[in-house]
Parts: sequence; C-alpha cells; structure tokens
Amino acid sequence: MENESPTRTICVYSVDAEHRIRWIANDWHDFASHNQGSHLTPAQLIGRSLWDFISDPSTRSIYRTLVDIVLLRGTPTTFGFRCDSPTHRRHMRMEMSRPRQGICQFRSMILADEERRYVSFIDTEQPRSDEFVRICSWCKRIAHPLGHWIEVEQAVSDLGLFTRRVQPLPTHGICPGCESTLLRQIDALQQLSSGESN
Ligand SMILES: [Zn+2]
Repeated sequence: MENESPTRTICVYSVDAEHRIRWIANDWHDFASHNQGSHLTPAQLIGRSLWDFISDPSTRSIYRTLVDIVLLRGTPTTFGFRCDSPTHRRHMRMEMSRPRQGICQFRSMILADEERRYVSFIDTEQPRSDEFVRICSWCKRIAHPLGHWIEVEQAVSDLGLFTRRVQPLPTHGICPGCESTLLRQIDALQQLSSGESN
C-alpha cells in the first residue's frame, strides 16, 4: 500500500562555521536517526560537532565538502536520501542553505512515504550479533556479498540474512551509485561557485 504524502518538512537544524550544531527545530528525530544518534535529545546535540554523528569517512567527506561550499559561497544545494523505519520507506530531500554568514542550515522533508512489511533489520530495538552488514547512508541499499547493492526487501529474500532472530549490525557507507551522483553534484556546485566569484 502506498501512502503519498504532500511534501512535509520534518527537521531543520543548523551548524556554524566550525560545523557545530547550533540550532534544531521541528522533529529532531529525523536528524538523529539519519545520523546514528537516535538516543540523544536536542539539548545533548547542541554544541556537538556534526561529524560526531557521521561515522563513515566517505559520507563525512561528501557532507563536509557540501557544508563548506554552502558556508563559503552561499550556494544552496539539495540532495535526495532515504530515512526508512521498519514499517515505512521514506523518500526524503535535504536542502542546505546559508541563511546568514557563518551558518549552514539543513532542512529535510518527506517527499513520499510508503508502507512496507515490517523489516526487523531496520528496527533499532532488535538485538544484534557481531556480524556486520554494510548499508548506504543515502539510499539505504544493502551491500550484497557479490559486490552489488540491493534494496532491504531483496536482501531479506535473497540472502535470508535478516530473518534471523538476532540481526547483524548495520555499518554505514555509500554505494557507488550515490557516490557518483553526489560527486557530480559537488563538481557542478564548485564550477558554479567559481563562476560566481569571478
Ligand atoms: Zn546509495
């Protein structure tokens, strides 16, 4: 069953020139779940470095480059990502902008929200084994042992991995498709920014 919802902003937060979280509005939970900090309250997040919550080096490097472009040039940018729950696939958009000098604001919104059959792998309450499964931070696809990346549902049926009582631990990374899209976007932004500064 598909439940198309109108575009809805669910989280706004901003970081300063040192990439420290300065302000959080609306539903901070999206920030926390997207950035591996769902046990933290807004008060615990303020003042912390954004990079404390993004463990994967490739994801961090792309985010950092985007933040720097926005902070230094004021060029806004957007990208798509997924913020799934065990029972919902959520297609999201992130907008990054510079509302004033020294502040980079992130605004995430839901573009589409689809119900799915419960997937225990995504349920953070589930017990975990010491086995790791790589998941793309951006599109939430799973790395297949043969090297390609597949949707969680396909991983459940093809690998039988997540039907176990104890789930493997997700370890975040970036799939080649998302990486090339984001790197192309960064290239275009840098060209745009250098054109504007000439
Ligand atoms: Zn991906």
